Amino acid sequence: MDTQIKIPLITNIQRYSLDDGPGIRTGVFYKGCPLHCPWCHNPENISTRMGLYFHVDKCVRCGSCAEVCPEKAITLPGPDGSPPQRDRDKCSQCMQCVLKCPARALEQVGELLSIEQIVKEAISDMPFYRKSGGGVTISGGEPLLFPVFTLELVKELKRKYVHVAVETSGFGNWEHLSKIAEYVDLFLYDLKHMNPLKHQAVVGVPNNIIHDNLRKLVNLNKKVIIRVPVIAGFNNEKHNFEMMVEFLNTLDCPVEAVDLLPFHNFAEAKYKQLDQNYDYKGAPNMEKEEIAEFVETLQKTIKTTVGGVTIQ
Ligand code: SF4
Ligand code: SF4
Repeated sequence: MDTQIKIPLITNIQRYSLDDGPGIRTGVFYKGCPLHCPWCHNPENISTRMGLYFHVDKCVRCGSCAEVCPEKAITLPGPDGSPPQRDRDKCSQCMQCVLKCPARALEQVGELLSIEQIVKEAISDMPFYRKSGGGVTISGGEPLLFPVFTLELVKELKRKYVHVAVETSGFGNWEHLSKIAEYVDLFLYDLKHMNPLKHQAVVGVPNNIIHDNLRKLVNLNKKVIIRVPVIAGFNNEKHNFEMMVEFLNTLDCPVEAVDLLPFHNFAEAKYKQLDQNYDYKGAPNMEKEEIAEFVETLQKTIKTTVGGVTIQ
């Protein structure tokens, strides 16, 4: 993991969010993640580098982007009306093409924002947080990839009496996580697969660090909601959820709940706009009925929800 990277690019400050913790929230999305889950719903946040969305439907094939590109990374639109193509390996992220495009077909993904700028925007919704029991959720990407920045951000938010949630894969250095945890009210903590080999093979990192960190986090009496993306062909096996129950029951303090997130395909358009490979192209959304037996397995001993909705 590259701990040299100190300041994340921010891809979105999403206000009025209802999905990432209690009440009305503002989501702060970092760019950069050490995992590479092939179903990722925020593919724009995997790379730490600045990116480009290409909205091909807006492109008027004027060729200005290719003319202005100092790296000759963009081909001119074809005479047959085909759109310009960008060679990502040649691109130096200068964003001149974005500035030049008359049709706003090119969009910069990620910008540098200071902690002051983020906090200022976040606290503008303070009345909504107070009324709804909401706050700010730091997400990504992976907040633990930028531990110094995250620590300063959570400290500043707590100074303003904001409820702070952190959405994390749990893959990070415990020393960093424990310091950040002092200023966090709620963790939304991912568990993806209990089998270490499958976890490593598919998402690219071992799960033992994630499990160890969770064990230590609950020992600090921190509120934790486990989130599990349920992905066909990866972790939708009863045995995986039985192992999860077994593991969660060995924790010294219980987690608040497990929230199952059945696969959905809403991110497909983003992969296209980013010109990124997507293994789940055309894959159907998973229906709630398909995860009913996993809910049943979990809720025998742990409060279980689906997509944040409490199951009675
Ligand atoms: S960001 Fe700069 S280098 Fe990259 S394609 Fe656009 S103009 Fe070329
Ligand atoms: S400058 Fe914009 S509209 Fe013109 S070809 Fe490039 S992407 Fe298309």
